Amino acid sequence: MISNKQQLIKDVNKLLIKKFGIPKRNEKLPDPVDLLIATILSQNTNDKNSYQAYTKLKKKFPDWEMAARAKRETIEKEIKIAGLGFQKSTAIHSFLNQLKKSKSKISLDYLINSEDQKILNELTSFKGIGVKTASCVLLFALDRNVCPVDTHVHRTVNRIGIVDQKTPDKTFIELNDKFPPKIAHSFHTNLIRLGREICKPKRPNCPACPLLKICEFPEKTTETLDEAKPNNFMLLDNVS
Ligand code: SF4
Repeated sequence: MISNKQQLIKDVNKLLIKKFGIPKRNEKLPDPVDLLIATILSQNTNDKNSYQAYTKLKKKFPDWEMAARAKRETIEKEIKIAGLGFQKSTAIHSFLNQLKKSKSKISLDYLINSEDQKILNELTSFKGIGVKTASCVLLFALDRNVCPVDTHVHRTVNRIGIVDQKTPDKTFIELNDKFPPKIAHSFHTNLIRLGREICKPKRPNCPACPLLKICEFPEKTTETLDEAKPNNFMLLDNVS
């Protein structure tokens, strides 16, 4: 039986596709290690800066074994443009070395046939890897029907009334409990676009929102604002 939550997710997905279209995806799934490192770089910055940092890092270290052997400071230097250089370089360097130590090589291919929850548990067991990063690997590198929850997804699904949670990790659990099949990528990606362009943190532009009629947010705005410029570049769909 389809629950109200599942139906609401499907309705939201349809309305967002009508507004923004079906989001483009990488033609070829990226390597899970590449994707995980790109996700670390994407934290607290925009996709343009994190893409530049990722490209620079890959150029310096075409092979992640080299990055694992390098000094953490060298990684920090390459990724400066993405901000939080110390934290991000520590997370990347530590992840690469933990993986190398436990599996003797830097590859996540051993996870490819595992179940979603097992992969989440395994990835979050690495020090410095959280639920958001692990769920991005599931969706973008392993093509699983899992919806990661970043700040935009957390804000919008709570405003719309799909979930009622205070933290992104709790939102992730409630949102992904029986998530409707096949739509996680378009739902996730278009919600990020909605959050960037219309349902902004401080002042949502509700009159311009395709979800106006079904959204349950009690503080909907009534004054029409200028529509923001399209902002649809997604780092994680451009990792290669
Ligand atoms: S109606 Fe307003 S609060 Fe609701 S999703 Fe749209 S912009 Fe956000």
